[in-house]
Amino acid sequence: MQSQPINFQPPAEDAQPFLLPVAASLFADRAARFAALADGHSLGDWLAFLGRLSAAQQSAQKALPALELPPAEALANARTHGMPPLDLARRPAAWRDALRHIARELAADAPEGAASALSTLQTAADDDLEQLAEVLLDGDLDAANAADLPFVAAALQVVYTQLASQLGASQLQKLDAHNVCPCCGSPAVASVVRLGAAINNLRYLHCSLCNTEWNVPRATCTACDTDKEVALHEVDGSKGAVRAETCDACQSYLKIVYQEKDPHVDPVADDLATLALDMLVDEAGYQRSGPNLLLIGAYSG
Ligand SMILES: [Zn+2]
Ligand SMILES: [Zn+2]
Repeated sequence: MQSQPINFQPPAEDAQPFLLPVAASLFADRAARFAALADGHSLGDWLAFLGRLSAAQQSAQKALPALELPPAEALANARTHGMPPLDLARRPAAWRDALRHIARELAADAPEGAASALSTLQTAADDDLEQLAEVLLDGDLDAANAADLPFVAAALQVVYTQLASQLGASQLQKLDAHNVCPCCGSPAVASVVRLGAAINNLRYLHCSLCNTEWNVPRATCTACDTDKEVALHEVDGSKGAVRAETCDACQSYLKIVYQEKDPHVDPVADDLATLALDMLVDEAGYQRSGPNLLLIGAYSG
């Protein structure tokens, strides 16, 4: 069963502004969620594969060497300038081994569409992998690398989730942009309304890369901050655990998942299990404000 993915700090009087990921269990919990969502789903084979990908991420996380956080001076400098402490341009080299590890684990039982990408990635040179990371982070993808990028993203998630888990919440600060991760600067994949001591019914945005969460008031557009033109949508017959929050001021949307409706919801897995909801709001003219990196590795929403 999925356990709490978040390292709850002791109860505080005010809402905790940041929830850092627990790297030792986060991907295993996500793997379990994908497996549960795959059961009886029209996209069941794909969701089951993403469950195996998440399990490979956990196994790559366990195999990581000790990772060093940026030096104290760099952390202080980022803080002074209102920048996130983790820099995506200074990737620890260990991410490339994490990628090879993931590719190796998945290769034995990969669907046809992924098999050749997984085999190439296992033996790709360091420079080629760094170039793929640049493509991912620039959001500059094309058909030539589309099959590689979800795995590149998965490996970067492993390393940045590990780094985030080594930070303290006191090392983070709110950034000017609400929809950007205060830990690594990536856009949010979705938000989650959490249950639990001191955070009951609070809404947190969830980072698409490092799995850090940060508190943003409910009924506020996470892209443009308005609280006037926000509405919630769900597909007919859903149990309300996943909704799309649309904003008529900036024509954007992002999903929001509710632990109250289902304690096992996961912002990444439940997002990919509800693509019908994306189609519904896309057709109504809204643009998604943040990516799910396991879908096409798209950084630009
Ligand atoms: Zn992040
Ligand atoms: Zn908006």
